[in-house]
Amino acid sequence: MKVLKFGGTSVANAENIKRVKDIVQNSVKEQKIAVVVSALGGVTDLLLETALLASHQNEKYAELLQEIEKRHIDTIRELIPVSSQSKVLSAVKREFNVLETLLEGAFLIGETTPKLSDKIVSYGELLSSFIINEYFEAEKLNSVHKDSRTLIITNDNFGKGIVDFPTTNQLCETYFGTVSYDIVVVPGFVASSQGGNSTTLGRGGSDYTASIIAAATNAQKLEIWTDVSGMYTANPRLVKQAVAISEISYEEAMELSHFGAKVLYPPTIQPVLAKGIPMHIKNTFDPEAKGTLITKNSNGTKRAVRGISHIENIALLSLEGSGMVGIPGISKRLFEVLSTGEINVVLITQASSEHSICLGISQDDVRKAGYLINEAFAYEISLGKIKPSIVENNLAIVALVGDNMKSHQGLSGRMFSSLGMNNVNIRAIAQGASERNISAVIDLKDVKKALNTLHEKFFEDNIRQLNLFVMGVGNVGAKFLKQIEQQKKFLKEQMKLNVRVIALANSRKMVFDEGGISLKKWQELLDNGEKADIETFVNKVNELNLRNSIFVDNTATELVANTYGDYLKNSVSVVTCNKIASSSVYSNYVQLKYLSRKYNAPFLFETNVGAGLPIIDTLKNLIASGDKVTKIQAVLSGSLNFVFNNFNDQTHFDIVVKQAQEEGYTEPDPKIDLSGIDVMRKILILARESGHVMELEDIENESFLPQECLNTDTVDEFFESLVKNKDHFDAIYRAAASKGHRLKYVAQFENGNAKVGLQEIPEGHPFYNLEGKDNIVLFYTERYAEQPLLIKGAGAGADVTASGIFADIIRIGNF
Ligand code: ADP
Ligand code: ASP
Ligand code: MG
Repeated sequence: MKVLKFGGTSVANAENIKRVKDIVQNSVKEQKIAVVVSALGGVTDLLLETALLASHQNEKYAELLQEIEKRHIDTIRELIPVSSQSKVLSAVKREFNVLETLLEGAFLIGETTPKLSDKIVSYGELLSSFIINEYFEAEKLNSVHKDSRTLIITNDNFGKGIVDFPTTNQLCETYFGTVSYDIVVVPGFVASSQGGNSTTLGRGGSDYTASIIAAATNAQKLEIWTDVSGMYTANPRLVKQAVAISEISYEEAMELSHFGAKVLYPPTIQPVLAKGIPMHIKNTFDPEAKGTLITKNSNGTKRAVRGISHIENIALLSLEGSGMVGIPGISKRLFEVLSTGEINVVLITQASSEHSICLGISQDDVRKAGYLINEAFAYEISLGKIKPSIVENNLAIVALVGDNMKSHQGLSGRMFSSLGMNNVNIRAIAQGASERNISAVIDLKDVKKALNTLHEKFFEDNIRQLNLFVMGVGNVGAKFLKQIEQQKKFLKEQMKLNVRVIALANSRKMVFDEGGISLKKWQELLDNGEKADIETFVNKVNELNLRNSIFVDNTATELVANTYGDYLKNSVSVVTCNKIASSSVYSNYVQLKYLSRKYNAPFLFETNVGAGLPIIDTLKNLIASGDKVTKIQAVLSGSLNFVFNNFNDQTHFDIVVKQAQEEGYTEPDPKIDLSGIDVMRKILILARESGHVMELEDIENESFLPQECLNTDTVDEFFESLVKNKDHFDAIYRAAASKGHRLKYVAQFENGNAKVGLQEIPEGHPFYNLEGKDNIVLFYTERYAEQPLLIKGAGAGADVTASGIFADIIRIGNF
């Protein structure tokens, strides 16, 4: 014999039940089968709700009951031919009349007892199994309905009956040993007490019914048909990358289900394990899928970690105090109290100092547990030897599970470091002596991130997903998006990085898509997005709480720069080409660096100096390896370079500046470039990155502009002043040219002092031949004392800036 169990979704409606029939029909060709069914999907919850409403004397219960009835009637009408419908309909209506009477009782008294609740809720599977059997019969299957209350006997612990196995096994053996039908349809979940009252086996208990019958009848196989293709490496609803585990041992399956893999009700495994009956989890909606085979010795991959599961709604309860140290019997008393109160302890940790014991329990039990413990230890508490129990709510447990974990070192290290990198705070840790499970208690809000982080670490062959939140889609931003799109495949295949853009914003609109924004049509998606708002953007990024999140700032806006701290504090890395934050007051710069370290979130701004040139990264590597910078000499302004490369005695200074402005080499207000402010910011950042405390005001700036030009208020006035001072600029040129020198705008840092200004550069100097918008930096250090380390290349332009941002993102990917 074989036992097939179909869950709530599998029998949710007529269409699904027809699939069930096909599966059963295929199976029965080989042997007899028992078909265990759940209530129509969602009906158990609805029945519990009607009972609750009735017990609160809320008349809405009657409406809800009608809805439930209608669902059953509709299903019958769709499944069963009209000719045989009336018999089935009237039988079902009779049952609903009884149910109505029960609920009326609850309504009148204003309460439901656990006993009445079980009675009410048992109708879910009693009705579904009845209807399904009638349908099978109508389809000419050799099928019979058998009420499981005559097969499975429990004590009268209503809500979760404890099975009387000797009696149950006997009843099942006798019945299935003699039944002559090919198919027996049995309601899952429900049973009967010795006294003949309806009981239930606990939520999700239909799996257990099937396992009990399989074990009692020595079935050849137990199949659990559900709505997913097996037991997955993590809950597939929370981890998109999760995959079905093809083979797994009973113990691993038990551990995963105990720690929250709802696909299997935990007690299910014990009966079949005892008999060595293989269990197969299959998908009703994809019967061809391989599913998960659960056996004694699974031959699946030898991966150490087989799955990751989690339990929500956990609370931590701790008991601590000096009175616990070295005194035997404290834990015994504690666990006795909890056991008497029927409180299930999910996780226990005790420090070796014995100073505290910490328990993970269901949040529903917190009040009761706290009360019982404080009462039991009242004497010690009154003496101050033990503190009243402390409770922390809104937690969850995530657990790594695998038989082979014991023979692998470093797993917990990898587990906790990857969680730590993503700012998942760990409140308690437990590892079973079997080493089949490592559990961590974390905040409920971090569950999804933690599961995905761990899944990535242990199952995705080291492919890291980087989640980007991009603000600013102008010249640089647009180029950047294009580069990501072009490189996506390469990054995934060659660098094991899966880069996704989750959000985009410009000054008008913003768009979010947790699944990743299509980079082929980002413009259209953004245009149709919601109204942009910097603060809402920050909040959304932090609420999404995705692993490996990176905020990318392609703007030049101070308001955006002011939000970096809010990202870093939530472990969201920041990559920016916006210089404002790094060149703002020193305290802000160090604060951002501090947050970056504290929350393990890189803060990178390579493109602040020399666009895509690897200047800051090189400097960081020098410092990290113990070198000391003694002097920096650099030409860091593409725009000023353009101006002085084109200005000579044949041209007019104001016309060259105008041309630079028109070709987009300067800021919209060229005074910002010509006055040297932009270069001051850059040398300030290099000085700070070399380890010096410096403010913008500390930098000497001997402007080559006459005071009159500096005093102008508008761009037009500025140009007028350049025309007026033509002689001044011509003189500067002539002075240099007469010596065969060229004019370069140089930034210099030496002995803790920085200055910027126009210099006459002689032939032979590394700056002399600097072309177009090239930048150059010379680092003189203790190790590069004689000949400086030199970096040179295009230092402006959207393409190179975008690739610099890209490089920062890859750095984070490899972090
Ligand atoms: P049924 O009604 O068929 O008994 P359940 O809803 O009880 O189905 O269990 C199936 C669900 O379990 C899946 O839809 C999935 O959301 C959830 N689940 C949680 N963890 C896992 C896991 N590790 N593998 C597969 N499913 C899981
Ligand atoms: N119908 C019951 C529940 O929803 C039992 C089951 O489906 O396994 O808990
Ligand atoms: Mg289930």
